[in-house]
Amino acid sequence: RKREVDDHEALQKRVDELDPKAEIKQFSDLPLSQPTSSGLEASRFKTLTEIQSKSLPLALKGKDILGAAKTGSGKTLSFLVPVLENLYRQKWTELDGLGALIISPTRELAIQIFEVLRKIGRYHTFSAGLIIGGRSLQEEQERLGRMNILVCTPGRMLQHLDQTAAFEVDNLQMLVLDEADRIMDMGFQSAVDAIVEHLPKQRQTMLFSATQTKKVSDLARLSLQDPEYVSVHESA
Ligand code: ADP
Ligand code: MG
Repeated sequence: RKREVDDHEALQKRVDELDPKAEIKQFSDLPLSQPTSSGLEASRFKTLTEIQSKSLPLALKGKDILGAAKTGSGKTLSFLVPVLENLYRQKWTELDGLGALIISPTRELAIQIFEVLRKIGRYHTFSAGLIIGGRSLQEEQERLGRMNILVCTPGRMLQHLDQTAAFEVDNLQMLVLDEADRIMDMGFQSAVDAIVEHLPKQRQTMLFSATQTKKVSDLARLSLQDPEYVSVHESA
């Protein structure tokens, strides 16, 4: 019998009762909404990768995450699934404004994240946008106010926060820094610091990288609250 996953309260209860150490193997065994479950199924994602298995239960519960796993290990879904779910369970609508901000070091990676978001998020009603430059600032500005989820590069995002008067971030629930090590290597620390200063302090922050460098933990200290460290090491 199909679970009543469209019931927000029942879903929240299942998330609350989820044991973060349960080592869940299949997406179908996670407490996920119907739109996300269908999106994952349509995208043919069934079995969790190791980083997903370790981080998703914690992230779904709203914990701050500092995650490290090598390239190709599936970090994108480790943050996109909680972004969709945590907004869904809050019954986020267009009127609630920006709920999640995902920062990526490069335009190419931002586009890749956005494509995965469009695929697995296809049955949700959230609006999502890419803020990576390449269009006029004004063109981007006009779309910004309507977005629930944004994928951006640090420089362009900062430009908007500084220059777009009507850009509201007061409701933001989630901040994701993907490839945090590269964000640091590319010299975006001060841009990220400045972005974080605009954001509400009460939020969920997830930081993912391929390595656990000192620089990443510097960044983490600025933007994470009591984070769960999740890492996957290559087997010998
Ligand atoms: P990372 O960000 O860690 O480098 P990605 O999120 O880009 O890794 O995922 C790498 C590849 O693995 C992508 O092609 C993605 O579609 C695939 N992938 C991710 N998670 C799963 C999964 N649970 N099952 C099957 N393939 C997956
Ligand atoms: Mg990645």
